[in-house]
Amino acid sequence: MPDNTGPVARVKMHKDGPEFSAVIWGSMRSEEQFAAPGELAEFLRFLLDLGVTTLDTANTYGYPHPYTVEEFLGKALKETGLRDRFEIVTKCGIQRVSPHRPVNRIRHYDFSEKEIRRSVDRSLDKLGIDHADVILLHRPDYLMDPEETAGALDALIAEGKTRHVGISNFSPSRYHLLASKLKAPIVTNQVEFSPIHLDPISNGVFDTALMEGHVPMIWSPIGGGRLMTGDDPYVVKVRTVLADIAARNGLPGAAEAAIAFVARHPARGVPIIGSGRRERIEGAIKAVNNPLDRMDWYEVVTATSEMLEL
Ligand code: NAP
Repeated sequence: MPDNTGPVARVKMHKDGPEFSAVIWGSMRSEEQFAAPGELAEFLRFLLDLGVTTLDTANTYGYPHPYTVEEFLGKALKETGLRDRFEIVTKCGIQRVSPHRPVNRIRHYDFSEKEIRRSVDRSLDKLGIDHADVILLHRPDYLMDPEETAGALDALIAEGKTRHVGISNFSPSRYHLLASKLKAPIVTNQVEFSPIHLDPISNGVFDTALMEGHVPMIWSPIGGGRLMTGDDPYVVKVRTVLADIAARNGLPGAAEAAIAFVARHPARGVPIIGSGRRERIEGAIKAVNNPLDRMDWYEVVTATSEMLEL
């Protein structure tokens, strides 16, 4: 039986980058999970007790309308009085239709210097912090001027508004384009990866991370819940395989087997857990401490690939 216990490890995201906890907590769903900032503050203290110190957020997150989560999280952080014990990652660049952003007629992306600055200043204000640990470009802006965007990111570091910068949902070629103009290193690429979303293992994203020396952050490691609640035959099949693997490995269930699957890839991506339930965070720690072995890992890929007929 594997060792399912032990504290959550620390991960150096890049040789010149930040150190994160090997399980990250994502705040995207927090307004649906916690009735008030005080409840979230309690949960943040629980995360700290476990060693989960890295928090992921974005300017656009919000429920029922975009652009409200940072303020919610900021109030909770303030209530803990423990901001300095967390690493805070936030993102900019997605423009969504919202009463909080009436200027947006349609959803679009904007990596102009003006928008990056506006967004980051707003994030720091709403979060109630004087700097972020990492600012990420959230999703590719096809109209990005690479020199302008790189210049804006380098300036944020020089001005002390963020310690580091990174990207999210970037292809290898977009990574290289931006990296060629940036002075600062790109310390992570935050991408989707799970047993039902295998793209980064074959589209060059994980290969690039390994070659360039950064650790990916992994969003929706259990498919945003779909892996556990979806009822289409493909998902049911993968979930059944994961449940068998969990039983064999002393993991609580299929969700933890999915996280152990994510943790096994040599890119060593750090999962961002989107649950607001304590037992799920504890389960995620068990999972990253017990990555799947080679044959279990391939059993998951085989189940997925057969169904996809790849
Ligand atoms: P996730 O951990 O795959 O999904 C969390 C959802 O799954 C929650 O609704 C949770 O419900 C549910 N769930 C978890 N375990 C379950 C179980 N055993 N049975 C049934 N339901 C279960 O991740 P995510 O929330 O989609 O994303 C995580 C974070 O990644 C976000 O908070 C955000 O920070 C980041 N993100 C980034 C991007 C990007 O483009 N960069 C995109 C999406 C998300 P409960 O709360 O009830 O447990």
